[in-house]
Amino acid sequence: MSGLTIIGSRQPVIEDRPPPPIERTTAHKWLIGQDRRKMPNPEPACKPLYISKIAEEKMRNHALSKAHERTEVMGLMLGQVFTHDGTEYTMVRDVATTDLDASSTRVRFRRDGFEKLFASMDDVGFDHIVTGWYHSHPGHGIFMSPTDVDTQKGMFSSSFHRAVVIDPINKEIGAYRLGGVDVEPVPFAIYWEEFQNPYFGTSVRKRTLAD
Ligand SMILES: [Zn+2]
Repeated sequence: MSGLTIIGSRQPVIEDRPPPPIERTTAHKWLIGQDRRKMPNPEPACKPLYISKIAEEKMRNHALSKAHERTEVMGLMLGQVFTHDGTEYTMVRDVATTDLDASSTRVRFRRDGFEKLFASMDDVGFDHIVTGWYHSHPGHGIFMSPTDVDTQKGMFSSSFHRAVVIDPINKEIGAYRLGGVDVEPVPFAIYWEEFQNPYFGTSVRKRTLAD
């Protein structure tokens, strides 16, 4: 990925606000084992990540929409960063993307796609910052490749920046931030607003691989 320095420099004012209450959060259904048991009540010390139901569905459906041709997808995560009881946490409320140059092992925004990307960011109906990026690994599993780590270091190096990786074939998902040797996994929860249906409600039609 390249050409994104324009969005990496803005440092937000970090307000104090409590995170979503436990009754409006859940673990992602694609998490397994230990990862799932740690959620949806992450240790505050790990600077947790909260992803809105809407943003999660958009990312997952984007990844699934290209799964049949085994092509990667990517986009930006938009949201806010808050602090509460001395703990910083990141909220992703929506995502934005544009036309992509993509294969089964790499992806980037098309150079002529930035106008569309910025327009889609402007369409978001709330004040936001870029809180990170998502991309897919169709069939490759969940990890951050050396290229992904370079992208994180180059474009998403603030303490609140996160990366989400989705494998739509194996149905796996993970989140990362800079830390440790290069990047380290971070726990995350899905949350929804009071007026929304719970995450796993049956009223929302969900895209599947067969669609
Ligand atoms: Zn990758």
